[in-house]
Amino acid sequence: MKNIKDYNLDELKQELINLGEKPFRAEQIFKWIHQENVTSFDDMTNISIELRQKLKENYSLCIYNIIRKQKSKSDETKKYLFDVLDGNAIESVLMKYHHGYSVCVSTQIGCKMGCKFCASTGIQFIRNLSSGEIVEQILAIERDENIQVSNVVFMGIGEPLDNYDNVVNAIRIINNPKGINIGARHISVSTSGLVPQIYKLAEENIQCTLSISLHATTDEKRSSMMPINNKYNIEELLKSCKDYTDKTNRRISFEYALAKGNNDNLQDAKALANLLHGMLCHVNLIPINEIENGKYKQSSNESIIKFRDYLNSRGIVATIRRELGSDIDAACGQLRRKNL
Ligand code: SAH
Repeated sequence: MKNIKDYNLDELKQELINLGEKPFRAEQIFKWIHQENVTSFDDMTNISIELRQKLKENYSLCIYNIIRKQKSKSDETKKYLFDVLDGNAIESVLMKYHHGYSVCVSTQIGCKMGCKFCASTGIQFIRNLSSGEIVEQILAIERDENIQVSNVVFMGIGEPLDNYDNVVNAIRIINNPKGINIGARHISVSTSGLVPQIYKLAEENIQCTLSISLHATTDEKRSSMMPINNKYNIEELLKSCKDYTDKTNRRISFEYALAKGNNDNLQDAKALANLLHGMLCHVNLIPINEIENGKYKQSSNESIIKFRDYLNSRGIVATIRRELGSDIDAACGQLRRKNL
């Protein structure tokens, strides 16, 4: 059965026309799904019983079961393990900030990128998530916690730009004012650096934030951490980033996970400042989260602060990402695909 959450509003109008219905019904149904967050077609009370019946026969509402929910003891982060209704499970994370709630969504069941420091690696890649399966992660959390989410980060399991069409459509769905209505500036997409897709995203006319997982300043080091660098090297990657900032006028966020003795000394900070000189950007330093059997160890607080201060002294805005939920393996790079 088709997942009704897969459709953006225009597509839903077309679906209704195909069912012989008036297109304005689409807006009502879209609101029931994404604003009222209903779990049954019967809750759509301004829709006739006949149409509800038609919807039931043709579509599923894709309501996730929560297999497990963990709550961090050190902060208010919560991690969900969802049954995506086909025998697979994925993780999503809810974080509370002073400005509201942020959800970190997964985009694929597994990941093909093979980054050496990430727990999502090393587990078999199964498939892409559909747009609706991405959106439902947010809706399921809103239902469970009775909250409204204000920020969404595409930083869970998977490489968002390796599932390009579904991710872009999911952004259009959650960004729609008649739906969850998350402003594009409150949406971040993180990529390990799929260069052709970065050029493509620049053309989409979506004002979301692009985050680039950079993590190293030489091709040798970056390739040792991230195999994707063998395909698209740093120079090509930064060229596509420049194109993105030129076309969108949006500042890029570079993620840099600091691992002791690997990429965290002052020489690395200098090289990073040189590399990013003149770019419209911001650097997000992440104390690397250690994973099971991983070889990378977290840098000391002192080196992280020195690294940040050096970048700032060179005019590059750098902040240290607060580690949330590491006690429940909900922090960056700690999410995994689980078997049911
Ligand atoms: N595949 C995308 C989305 C993942 S986002 C990407 O690579 O960007 C998750 C962020 O956490 C990325 O910047 C990723 O490189 C980073 N990350 C992965 N493993 C990590 C770890 N062990 N510690 C800190 N950050 C990590």
